[in-house]
Amino acid sequence: MMPLLQVKGLSKTFYVRQGFMGSQKAELHALRDVSFEVTEGESFGIVGESGCGKSTAGRAILRLVEPSAGEVRYQGEDIAKADRRRLRELRREIQIVFQDPYASLNPRITIGRALAEPMLLHGVATRADVKEKVAQALMEVGLPAQAMQKYPHEFSGGQRQRIGIARALALAPRLIVADEPVSALDVSIQAQVLLLMEDLQRRRGLSFVFISHDLGVVRHFCRRVAVMYLGRVVEQGPVDALFDEPLHPYTKALRQASPVPDPKTKITVAKIEGDVASALSPPSGCHFHPRCPQAMPECRTRYPEWRDMGGGRGVACHLHSVEKIVPRKAEHVG
Ligand code: SF4
Ligand code: MG
Repeated sequence: MMPLLQVKGLSKTFYVRQGFMGSQKAELHALRDVSFEVTEGESFGIVGESGCGKSTAGRAILRLVEPSAGEVRYQGEDIAKADRRRLRELRREIQIVFQDPYASLNPRITIGRALAEPMLLHGVATRADVKEKVAQALMEVGLPAQAMQKYPHEFSGGQRQRIGIARALALAPRLIVADEPVSALDVSIQAQVLLLMEDLQRRRGLSFVFISHDLGVVRHFCRRVAVMYLGRVVEQGPVDALFDEPLHPYTKALRQASPVPDPKTKITVAKIEGDVASALSPPSGCHFHPRCPQAMPECRTRYPEWRDMGGGRGVACHLHSVEKIVPRKAEHVG
């Protein structure tokens, strides 16, 4: 079966001005050679600290950011070739939910209008049935129909995120890109919103690209995950395998930094040693080497090749490079 979404060798370079009055032009490699696939009905996680490129990857899926190289295929179709009309259709089928729904809700219009307008624009509702469909969308996320008459400020953070999800769902998408959808919420509310998303996914057969800095949250929601560091995927595989037996030292650090969310306790997220380097001047060799407890001399000079480890797993780290796997001596028999 063809994957719903295929991202192949995706790269994005931004050009930024630096130095005295912006006299120097510098390249910022937000994404480098990022590849992953999402199958129908699957939740795929992208995890990493802020600045790792995960949001840029999410936006590139909807072409809210134009990639510099590589491909995004939706049901086999290269979205770079979509004309304006097709792109509008694609932006109905692929919806994005942001961390802060308040920022994407106009404070001066009611929730009812905020939901109705995109439905009318995309032709998923008519003037005659739009009210009923808005009520349905609200009910599906556990909000009463009367929420329609209210304004964004009248809701709590968790309720606003439900509204953000309702607005995405109202357009009957097949894929939702959720960029840190629960990060701004209290731990107890996080669990509720995650449960809601899980439920919707099951009922509607939706696929998700779930972007988060928290491996623990990703573990609850996703089956497979890509770990990103400074614009690159450094490890990828089934989320339980990555969690139980991480191969990349950065994945290990992330795991230690992300406690499994407990709805009853508020856990402070531990910080990984050292600061993330700037994507503007990433460290030579393996970008993680200044923070890596297992760094070797070659890590400073050479970026590790991507290695397929079998079982859907892959990693880019010299600890797992082919040369490191010394063939075992044949056992003496008899
Ligand atoms: Fe650490 Fe070297 Fe692996 Fe990078 S390549 S994660 S520095 S061991
Ligand atoms: Mg982000």
